[in-house]
Amino acid sequence: MADWMVNLVPFASDNYAYLIESDDGLAVVDPGEAAPVAAAIKTLDKPLRQILITHHHGDHVGGVAALKATHGAEVVGPKASAGKLPLDRAVSEGDRVDCLGAELTVIETPGHTLDHIAYYTEGHQGLFSADCLFVLGCGRVFEGDAPMMWNSLLKLRALSDETLVFCGHEYTMANARFALSLTPDDSALQAHIDGLQERRDQGAPTVPSLLGDEKRFNPFLRCDDPAFQEALGLSGKSAAEVFAEVRARKDRF
Ligand SMILES: [Zn+2]
Repeated sequence: MADWMVNLVPFASDNYAYLIESDDGLAVVDPGEAAPVAAAIKTLDKPLRQILITHHHGDHVGGVAALKATHGAEVVGPKASAGKLPLDRAVSEGDRVDCLGAELTVIETPGHTLDHIAYYTEGHQGLFSADCLFVLGCGRVFEGDAPMMWNSLLKLRALSDETLVFCGHEYTMANARFALSLTPDDSALQAHIDGLQERRDQGAPTVPSLLGDEKRFNPFLRCDDPAFQEALGLSGKSAAEVFAEVRARKDRF
């Protein structure tokens, strides 16, 4: 298998773009701004082959045109936005994308936006979840509805525990405060959050996280867990109803 690693490119106040690196060159996921990505490309000194887009929001696509103009990379993104994004290749559920010798599978994850997709590589156990799944959180439901978003999260939850989750924003500590407010007696959650806080205190990102940890600690992935439902006073509700309620509480938090 080709050598393949993921470099984080932080920009704005809390966004992450990802610069994937192999012997073949570079690929970038969600370059919301061109300048920080261009600087990282210069440092790594390899050709940019591909630009991967997860959804149409400006803080994920803002740098695409400038990077494409300079580097001529192939732009890959969701078919649902083919009309409004400058795509060379439009992809949808189940499509495979060769990314620097690794295979990425496209997973449609609508809810935050209708066009939202995630990219998953089984070979390198990586998931680019953008604004669907965050560390200890999930994206706001802007264009879809709660059942749609819950279904999208279920698709990501079905991946293996060892999957590394590369999400679109560093929202972790705010998400952690909310998660703890729901289940304040969960000492394992508190210990997990202490570990994340330590990383932040050292100025380090909390990304990537392990999907196994998200399954255990992320409240938005626990909406069908009877113990969690009971702790929230939501026993007997459907998972999608619990998700809608937890998402609404977070929006007010
Ligand atoms: Zn977004």
